[in-house]
Amino acid sequence: MNIRKSEELFERAKRVIPGGVNSPVRAFRSVGGTPIYMKSGEGARLVDADGNEYLDFCNSWGPLITGHRHPAILEAIQEQLGRALTFGTPCEQEVLLAEHVIERLKTSIPDSRIERIRFTSSGTEAVMSAIRLARGFTGKNKIIKFNGCYHGHSDSLLVKAGSGLATLGIPDSAGVPSGFTAETIVLPLDDEKAVTEAFNRHGGDIAGILIEPVPANNGLLLQRQDFLNHLRNVCNSHGALLIFDEVISGFRVGIGGAAQHFAISPDMVTYGKIIGGGMPVGAFAGRADVFAMLAPDGPVYQAGTLSGNPVAMAAGLAQLQLLTKDAFNHLENLGALLESRFNQMQLKWKVTRIGSIFWFHTGTAPRRADQIDASAPKTYAQFHKHCLENGIYLAPSAYEVGFLSTPMSESDIERLAKLSVEFFKNA
Ligand SMILES: *Cc1c(COP(=O)(O)O)cnc(C)c1O
Repeated sequence: MNIRKSEELFERAKRVIPGGVNSPVRAFRSVGGTPIYMKSGEGARLVDADGNEYLDFCNSWGPLITGHRHPAILEAIQEQLGRALTFGTPCEQEVLLAEHVIERLKTSIPDSRIERIRFTSSGTEAVMSAIRLARGFTGKNKIIKFNGCYHGHSDSLLVKAGSGLATLGIPDSAGVPSGFTAETIVLPLDDEKAVTEAFNRHGGDIAGILIEPVPANNGLLLQRQDFLNHLRNVCNSHGALLIFDEVISGFRVGIGGAAQHFAISPDMVTYGKIIGGGMPVGAFAGRADVFAMLAPDGPVYQAGTLSGNPVAMAAGLAQLQLLTKDAFNHLENLGALLESRFNQMQLKWKVTRIGSIFWFHTGTAPRRADQIDASAPKTYAQFHKHCLENGIYLAPSAYEVGFLSTPMSESDIERLAKLSVEFFKNA
């Protein structure tokens, strides 16, 4: 495979951009080789700088649930381009998207408490703002997060657990003072007792529980319904807020995300990825009484020069409007096809899936970060290379999930299934 142009671009990039990339995992460090520079996309297909074509199972890490350049999204963007790119004033597009999201969540999440929404420009900002608001509303300081969940790169959430015991956060990145993570309690997933104990010990000072209800940033660690119910109950009894980080799962696991899938109504939700239709958008949303604390109504400050950007709002609305029941049925059928084709082979490797999110792993589906097979990344690196050489683009890390998009057909799925079965038969 000729990737000369990608190699040239990467060499130039490394002279001016740290590591050659603007987000670390793009550098291909965990799979080896040169990152592929993409040039164009159409539907489920990508073309790189050297003209190689790929079937795209990364979909920009999730946002592109309707694939590349969907005509309805392009049309919405173009219409807005004819008016303006940004005002820094309120605009109609943000009202339309806010109304659309809240209305659709109301009809899909049982007892939805998602009554207010504020837009940001990234998922990181959305989660960072949500926990600030949770702290401001409750007057409490501590946030529980789980080992194996990613919530963006804000200081207080870049934390990992020490041992299996409930530990107070130790920063997971240089440049984060330990004081910044001291109010973050890190617990293992899938462990009701650990949550109960944390509340017994710190309950009076816990503002909320933050979780990816579909943890999809450290493999796909699907949680038990009982565990998620427990989080809801514990928050209720201690006056803490349940915050679902649905930056990946929102509008992907059904329109109402994991809240709909598990029929659990969180106090706050964060969104990103799909909500921008391919443009940089995030959002945090939730109860009206909680959001009454947010500036300018209340004392919790939060802002953004380009927040609610009309082009991004138009793109997001157009994409959400494409996400009909039929669209989700189609994605579910494709996902089920991949899962059955691969898992019927009874290999050492399996596919775990929810809706249109899938993940290749060894053995039984792990529910906690420490249950993931540490030797898997080596095999995955070879698999990733094999896929690239055969025109399939997967995320460049064993810990990243794959995404399906609506323009995909059954034959696209059969292609991935065949290639992966052939590879993992000998792995
Ligand atoms: C991607 C992601 C984020 C961060 O969003 P960015 O737009 O990359 O800042 C936060 N939480 C979850 C669950 C994510 O998947």
